[in-house]
Amino acid sequence: MNWLTSFVRPKLQALVRKPEAPENLWGKCPACGQMIFHRELDAAMRVCPHCSHHLRLSWQRRLEMLFDDGKFERTAVAPVLVDPLKFRDRKRYSERLKESQGKTGESDAIVVAHGRIGGFPLVAAAFNFEFMGGSMGMAVGDGLILAARLAVEQQASLLVIPASGGARMQEGILSLMQMPRSIIAVDEVKEAGLPYIVLLTDPTTGGVSASFAMLGDFALSEPGAIIGFAGARVIEETIREKLPEGFQRAEYLLQHGMIDLVVPRANLRETLIRLIGLVRDPVLPAPGNRAALPSPADVARHAGAE
Ligand SMILES: [Zn+2]
Repeated sequence: MNWLTSFVRPKLQALVRKPEAPENLWGKCPACGQMIFHRELDAAMRVCPHCSHHLRLSWQRRLEMLFDDGKFERTAVAPVLVDPLKFRDRKRYSERLKESQGKTGESDAIVVAHGRIGGFPLVAAAFNFEFMGGSMGMAVGDGLILAARLAVEQQASLLVIPASGGARMQEGILSLMQMPRSIIAVDEVKEAGLPYIVLLTDPTTGGVSASFAMLGDFALSEPGAIIGFAGARVIEETIREKLPEGFQRAEYLLQHGMIDLVVPRANLRETLIRLIGLVRDPVLPAPGNRAALPSPADVARHAGAE
C-alpha cells in the first residue's frame, strides 16, 4: 500500500461519487425520478408534486383520508388456523407470517373499519400491501365476510380497497376458496340493497382481481394503478405479441369499459360522498326497487362530472 492507493484514490473517488441523499429526508419518485422531500410527499398524500404519480399509500393514511374527521373504529378479524398445509418454500409459511406480523403489527393482510363518510355510514375493508403483498388467504376471506355482514347490520355502504398480488399461494386451495367466499360476501351487501364500492389501488392482480374486486356497483380506481389477472410479461410470452401501451393500467381499463371512474387521490373522498349520496338520497326510490334506480355507470358519470 502506498500513498497513491491509501490517500489519492479515496480523495478522487470522493470527488467523482454522486452525493447520496439521506434516506430519511428524501425519496425518489419511481415515475419521474425527481427527488422529493418525504415530508412534502406525505403532505401531498404521497402523490408526486412533479408528475402526479400516485405512490402507494398505507391503509392507515388511506382510511384517515376517507372517513369524516379521519375517525374510524376497527373491528378485529377472528384468528384463523395457522398454516394448515405446513407449507414451506425457501422459508416456512409460519415464519413468513410471523415476520409480516412483526413488521406491520397486524395479524393479517386486511383491516376492517367502520365510521362515517359525509355523514353516511361506511364500512371499509382495506388491504395491507405490506403484509405478504396483500395476498388473500383465509384471514382475508374472513375479513371480507366480516365487513360485508357489518355493512348489512349497520345498513352501511361497503367500500373495499384492494392492494394485492392475488391469492396466497402458501395456503394452496384454501386461498383459492376465498374467491367464491368473497363473492358471496359482497353479494349479501348487494342483496340488502346497499352500495358496494371498490376502490382499485396499485396493484390489484391475480385471484383478487378475478373475484370480488371486479364486482363493485361502482368500480373506482386510482390513476396509474395496475389492474389485471396475469402479469403483462406472462401474457406477452404466451401470445407472442407486443401488448398495447398502458395495458393493465387504470386508464386503459376505463377506456375499455372495465371500470367506471379513475379518481385522483385528492378528489377521492368527495367523489365517494357524492356517489353514496346519489344512491342513498331519500328522494330516490327505495333500495329494494333497484330497477328504478339509475345504472351505476350513469351515477358514476354524474358524480365524476365537475
Ligand atoms: Zn414524479
